[in-house]
Amino acid sequence: MSQDLRKEELSRSAFEEAKLYIPGGVNSPVRAFKSVGLTPIYIDRGEGSRVYDIDGNSFIDYVGSWGPLIMGHAHPEVVEALQETAAKGTSFGAPTLLETKMAKLVCERVPSIEVVRMVNSGTEATMSAIRLARGYTGRSKIIKFEGSYHGHADSLLIKAGSGIATLGLPDSPGVPESVASNTIAVPYNDLESVQLAFERFGEEIAAVIVEPVAGNMGVVPPQPGFLEGLRKVTSDYGSILIFDEVMTGFRVDLNCAQGRYGVTPDLTCLGKVIGGGLPVGAYGGKRELMDQIAPAGPIYQAGTLSGNPLAMAAGYTTLKLLTPAVYEQLEERGARLQAGFERNAKEFGIPLTINRIGSMVCPFFTNTPVVNFDTAKTSDLDRFRRYFAAMVQEGVSVPPSQFEGMFISAAHTVEDIDATIEANYNAFKSL
Ligand code: PLP
Repeated sequence: MSQDLRKEELSRSAFEEAKLYIPGGVNSPVRAFKSVGLTPIYIDRGEGSRVYDIDGNSFIDYVGSWGPLIMGHAHPEVVEALQETAAKGTSFGAPTLLETKMAKLVCERVPSIEVVRMVNSGTEATMSAIRLARGYTGRSKIIKFEGSYHGHADSLLIKAGSGIATLGLPDSPGVPESVASNTIAVPYNDLESVQLAFERFGEEIAAVIVEPVAGNMGVVPPQPGFLEGLRKVTSDYGSILIFDEVMTGFRVDLNCAQGRYGVTPDLTCLGKVIGGGLPVGAYGGKRELMDQIAPAGPIYQAGTLSGNPLAMAAGYTTLKLLTPAVYEQLEERGARLQAGFERNAKEFGIPLTINRIGSMVCPFFTNTPVVNFDTAKTSDLDRFRRYFAAMVQEGVSVPPSQFEGMFISAAHTVEDIDATIEANYNAFKSL
């Protein structure tokens, strides 16, 4: 399956031209392949488990648009729903029946959600959930976890400080220190630090926001008791527990991570899968809380394109396609891929720790168990860069960053998984 020397002339010149008109040539930084030192691959089209670039190369794809495409690229039912909906008009700025249908389905499937508001991205979802938590509690501070990403709203773009309950410093120029100082960053899976932060700032803490499976430092599952502990401490202090399920929502379970782990937050943020590949986010929770949102209540949040018919059609169709059998298949394919990579690493004596929850998989080049951002950073990033380049050469598209997981879709066949294991074998051999 190794392609004879991948062609990349067209992607190269496309990137050069894009850089003339788009900052860094891309509309989202990680697409620039900067951390792996390569030229981005310009995609022409996707179908099922594969993407095809403008130079004529094909790749088995484990980026899946960074998570949304759990049913694979251009799923025929999703495409059909989009075509039918588009023919009736793409946006009205007025309510449609599709929005209620979608909201009802989300409320049925997500344990914590009684009422849900659609937005246009994961960033909007987390930003709005935090405004709601602050408005509801009348408090300003929030706790987030080092190495977690919740989108690019100011109060969430906070440098992962070390130590216990470090007050945040801005992670990006443009984030005022006055905003950052309201964000407390603590290590993932470290309940003691959370407890200490509450002991010190308890009455000021509006919310704890957590990825119930961390997916932005590679893949890091919650240790037993971690999510339960967050539930308890937030309840004890009258603080809001927000699960950011933008990545894990409908990815790790039909009932999201909260269904899988049996811990119910106050608010949940969704995105990615619920848009079926279109721009969507959502936040929801208990009626008592959500009724604070305008126009039901005083906390303002709005959107010209929120609940957009195309996005609702793609999302609803995707959610309807997701059955328990799909998750069983994803689990099997994930386990097969993991076992294959582990076998290969053993054969070539490569230090490898694979973290996996269902179809979220991350190989770290380290023997250290990865339980938080500090341990994720023990991975050999130079080796990752060489591995990434070799996988691309072998015709497999994996995320161009050590700190992002691979996403398996329902379109990945056993043959795809085995071909990926073979590609991985060749890649590991070359390291
Ligand atoms: N929250 C999590 C857990 C994410 O992984 C992401 C994006 O990767 C976001 C929020 C932000 O979502 P978006 O990129 O749609 O704004």
